[in-house]
Amino acid sequence: MDRWLWAVGLAMLASCGGGGMEDGSAGPNGTAGPADAAAEAATEIEAEAATDVVAGIGAETLLAETLILSSDEFEGRAPGSAGEELTVDYLVEQFSALGVSPGNPDGTWVQDVPLVGITPQPPQNLVVSNGAGALTLEPSTDYVAATRHVVDAVAVDGAEFVFVGYGARAPEYDWDDFGELDLSGRILLFLVNDPPLDDIFGGPAMTYYGRWTYKHEMAAELGAAGSLVIHETEPAGYPWEVIGAAPFGETFDLAAPDDNLGRATFEGWVQRATAESIFEMAGLDFEAARQQAAVRGFEPIPLGVTGSLAIRNEIRRIDSRNVVAKVEGAEAPDEVLIYVAHWDHVGRDESLEGDQIFNGAADNATGTAGLIELARAYSLSARPPRRSVLFLAVTAEEAGLLGSFHYVRNPLYPVAQTVAALNMDVLNQWGRTRDLTIVGLGQSELDDVAAVIAEQLGRTLAPDPEPEKGFFYRSDHFAFARAGIPAFYADPGVEYIGKPEGYGAQKRIEYTANDYHQVTDEVKPDWDLAGAVEDLTFLYLMGRRLADGEEWPSWSETSEFRALRESQRPQ
Ligand SMILES: [Zn+2]
Repeated sequence: MDRWLWAVGLAMLASCGGGGMEDGSAGPNGTAGPADAAAEAATEIEAEAATDVVAGIGAETLLAETLILSSDEFEGRAPGSAGEELTVDYLVEQFSALGVSPGNPDGTWVQDVPLVGITPQPPQNLVVSNGAGALTLEPSTDYVAATRHVVDAVAVDGAEFVFVGYGARAPEYDWDDFGELDLSGRILLFLVNDPPLDDIFGGPAMTYYGRWTYKHEMAAELGAAGSLVIHETEPAGYPWEVIGAAPFGETFDLAAPDDNLGRATFEGWVQRATAESIFEMAGLDFEAARQQAAVRGFEPIPLGVTGSLAIRNEIRRIDSRNVVAKVEGAEAPDEVLIYVAHWDHVGRDESLEGDQIFNGAADNATGTAGLIELARAYSLSARPPRRSVLFLAVTAEEAGLLGSFHYVRNPLYPVAQTVAALNMDVLNQWGRTRDLTIVGLGQSELDDVAAVIAEQLGRTLAPDPEPEKGFFYRSDHFAFARAGIPAFYADPGVEYIGKPEGYGAQKRIEYTANDYHQVTDEVKPDWDLAGAVEDLTFLYLMGRRLADGEEWPSWSETSEFRALRESQRPQ
């Protein structure tokens, strides 16, 4: 039993007579004073858990809030849009009505997040040439690219394509896809994900090396002119339409002091078939190169084929906002537990026929509504938590976790005093489940807390069924993890109660194929939020236990984030 489970065991011992528990007196803090307080706290927690119902969390309110946030009036909640105004106003209104406090120490409900919005005007063809002939790639259909440079125009003229395999530079695995070749001024072509090996790079699970964000960061470091990831639907986890449709327009970034001139001139994706055509022009076989890339010792392959692309930008500076509410801790107000969910979605696309609004009902009106439900539950609790609890609705997650990265770089409460971040991104819409999917199960000691709550509620914890898709790196909890703060992300379970086997997996596949980042992500008549209510109850009890405790759960021994946390909070 690790020290966290030991503390939880002590609390249970104090509250329920210790049936079956180890002797708590063996622990380092088993003195009378704290034990009394622990007993009192534990009694209340047990009482709240006993009914499986937490006052303030309900399916009707959750649905009503989700309907408002995902209504056409909110225009898909793009940062900087009229939809942002409505969203921020709505959240502030809801939090105020609950009687919780403004979460910014300056006394306001918001944290300013300065962004730049960059729109290519209009998207140009990417011309590929081998001297003898040229291939014209169409935007959206064949490729997608944008520049993060905060300037009016950029151009890459006749830069050579170089295939860099998976593009991982991982000394701990004795792996380097870039070798000695000077890659400055080149257009790098990356395979999606990390090298598919059983023994390194997390096996089937994706490491940070597999994320497209990492690849573009490496391209910048190497001074590349362009950075293109070769999209393949299966390993990417989503179809080309997710890349090729809405996000082609405006891209957002945090307003960096260097106007992002350190980035590659353009960053984007090409379809796999397009990559095959580029290889063909070079007289090479894509599939053969792809196989070479899966072997240690791979060297970059210059293709002898060039690419030219000009992008003109429309730039606007946007003052976006994170919304933040707080319930002040009664005993340790400077220690903070954070619930986080992104309020933004991808907005609207006026080039579309018919429906133009990406309502983002599941993604992430549900999670944002979940923040309101949790804040209500805390506000209705008979006793304030021991530590402070923050309800943080962040902006621009869809643009690359920008609101949460801004928060951790400009924390309203010190990172070292932040106990954990519990993230919600897409709540369950299809009914009750026995299990709860923990994305990144095994990453941190928060799993031990989750296990205790699961046992109380008669539920089970399941690992992410698709660790190869790297979901741990794809929502706001990751920004907290990068900053060292133990972070937890639960997805809906897959074992649906009263539904045939495979129902959950089927629903997940349907959602990804039909609704994920599409205009059809709307509240559906067959939605059943009973499961979301149970998941929120779980998150309430888990957060409550962390907020009422004195422990500082850390990252697991094997986690890439543990060293950073230890530097913040020396043991
Ligand atoms: Zn989301």
